[in-house]
Amino acid sequence: TTTAEQHVFEADVARLLHMMVHSVYSDKDVFLRELVSNAADACEKLRYEAITTPGLLAEDPDPRIRLLLDAEQRQLIVEDNGIGMSRGELVEALGTIARSGTRAFMEKIEASKAQEEGANGGAQLIGQFGVGFYSCFMVADRVDVATRRAGEAQAWMWSSDGKGSYSISELDAASAPARGTRITLHLMEEAKDYTSRHQVERIVKQQSGHVPVPISLIEKPGAEPVNITDGSALWTRSKSEISKEDYADFYRGISGQYDEPALTVHFHAEGRHDYRTLAFVPGTPPFDLFDPDRKGRIKLYVKRVFITDDAELLPRYLRFVRGLVDTADLPLNVSREMIQESPILSAIRKGVTNRVLTALEKLAESEPETYLTVWQNFGAVLKEGIYEDFERRSQLLGLARFRTTTSGEDLRSLADYVKDMKPEQDTIYYLTGSSLEQIKASPQLEGFRARGIEVLLLSDQVDSFWVMNAPDFEGKTLKSVSQGAADLAKFAKPDGASKDGEDKPEEAKADIAAFLVLAKEELKDDVADVRASDRLTESPVCLVAAETGYDRQLEKILAGAGQ
Ligand code: ADP
Ligand code: MG
Repeated sequence: TTTAEQHVFEADVARLLHMMVHSVYSDKDVFLRELVSNAADACEKLRYEAITTPGLLAEDPDPRIRLLLDAEQRQLIVEDNGIGMSRGELVEALGTIARSGTRAFMEKIEASKAQEEGANGGAQLIGQFGVGFYSCFMVADRVDVATRRAGEAQAWMWSSDGKGSYSISELDAASAPARGTRITLHLMEEAKDYTSRHQVERIVKQQSGHVPVPISLIEKPGAEPVNITDGSALWTRSKSEISKEDYADFYRGISGQYDEPALTVHFHAEGRHDYRTLAFVPGTPPFDLFDPDRKGRIKLYVKRVFITDDAELLPRYLRFVRGLVDTADLPLNVSREMIQESPILSAIRKGVTNRVLTALEKLAESEPETYLTVWQNFGAVLKEGIYEDFERRSQLLGLARFRTTTSGEDLRSLADYVKDMKPEQDTIYYLTGSSLEQIKASPQLEGFRARGIEVLLLSDQVDSFWVMNAPDFEGKTLKSVSQGAADLAKFAKPDGASKDGEDKPEEAKADIAAFLVLAKEELKDDVADVRASDRLTESPVCLVAAETGYDRQLEKILAGAGQ
């Protein structure tokens, strides 16, 4: 063995590690799930590379994860025969944080500590971010990673106490795994229970029972391995054999989240194409939902072999859905180019998208409360589909829920709105703005309120974009109250007395006309027009956008973006 080379952790890693070690999470068990899931990922990556390079499997073709307990040495070892890591990969993977959203995650976790939200909040957050490997420093004061990449002769040892630096050294052949990675945790005194067979078996079954690689356990040095999970693919079983807990465990494994799924979609399509899908809508939103770089999170499998999580199997506006598609209709050695252009995959994409949207519609009917939390978490993303996906626009408009001038704290659908429209009303009115409070205070609403006409209050940034396509719902057009002259003249005031304008005496009409001339004169080029309006009941004046052209809120957003 050569001398070890010292490396300093990237600043963000150091900060993260410090948080891991110094915060008190009630649920430290999560580190084991993170290590097992990395081991399984490594086995799946190897299986994929071996499709083109079968030699990588050598004499050891079956993927395996093994846990070795050593109470005497107070050690827990997690070993896999997966892809392993080269020296470069080791430095990259266990010295930096490449993922987006890290800073947001750390700020959130620090804030939750500051508010003493409690220990569970922390574990939840780790899960949501999937902070992974570094979580083992919650239970270990030293971690050694011995690894050899498939097909490479040289093995490496990474070692750290999680306090700011790590070392890397060459590892001689005899002390290294033949292929894959062996992670040794030198457990802290208070974490010695992780060498108890009973304890570890229970945690693994509960957290990682559906990992698609079999897991075995060796109780103490020299003992025989005992299988504790069989690595069978949950999605290939029929729905009737799978319990709610099975689905929830699987969801936690594939999503890295710790919550319950809000919706589970599991089906086997057998028509022109043969594929299975198991997809989940998470119970809570992930941190990087609005990160422009965030990709979809649906994994593609071909005949149970993991191929990629980059196949964009759902449209962007469903990027919060987690899960997988497994098809028998593609060759195992499907290339990236093929994935982009495959007509089979575009048919599958279409099929999966339809199923997810239909499942959301059903959920809205059968469990409206659950659906409302889905909408609160992901509605702003789903709304992107209203302008991106012309084909499914009316379906998405049907799924949408809104705050309105009459909804109070509730959310209403467009169907609710249409059902309660005035007899003489044929338009759905809305107002966009940057916050609910700001919209509610707008003088533009006064005339509508006075006549009891409901107005949708649209405060998400995305709202300004989809309304621009002037969608209609059940034949009713959507129209901004700020755009052009309001149609208020045709609605009776609540007292039913008369329509506006008609009861004004002749002198008043003349005064108004004279005032308009004066105002136009004064304001000249600052405005396009000055009009008397029925829309105000209390405020003397308000600014409105022209009948054609951008809506005022969109003008603001574009001005902010420097356009
Ligand atoms: P993630 O799994 O989300 O990428 P982790 O922090 O869990 O994040 O792991 C970081 C990286 O370390 C992985 O992406 C992988 O490249 C590498 N890694 C961790 N464990 C293993 C392992 N057992 N075999 C091979 N690579 C591993
Ligand atoms: Mg991981």
